[in-house]
Amino acid sequence: MRSQNASSDVTATGGSGGTCQRSGPYKCNSHTEIIVVFQRGDRFPNCPMNNGHATTWSIVREPPADR
Ligand SMILES: [Zn+2]
Repeated sequence: MRSQNASSDVTATGGSGGTCQRSGPYKCNSHTEIIVVFQRGDRFPNCPMNNGHATTWSIVREPPADR
C-alpha cells in the first residue's frame, strides 16, 4: 500500500530573503492591502511599504465569494 503524496502541504509563507515554494498571490503580514504575485523559486523581497521593511509573506487564498 502506498499513501497519497499530499503536495498541497507546501509552505505557503516565507520571510524576506526566503524562497517562494508555491506560486500565487502573497500579502505582507503587516500590510494586508499589499498583494504581490510570486512564482515558485522567486526570492521574497522586502515589503515596499515603510521604505521597504523585512516581513513575512503569506499566500492569499481565493477571495471570498460573497460580500
Ligand atoms: Zn508591509
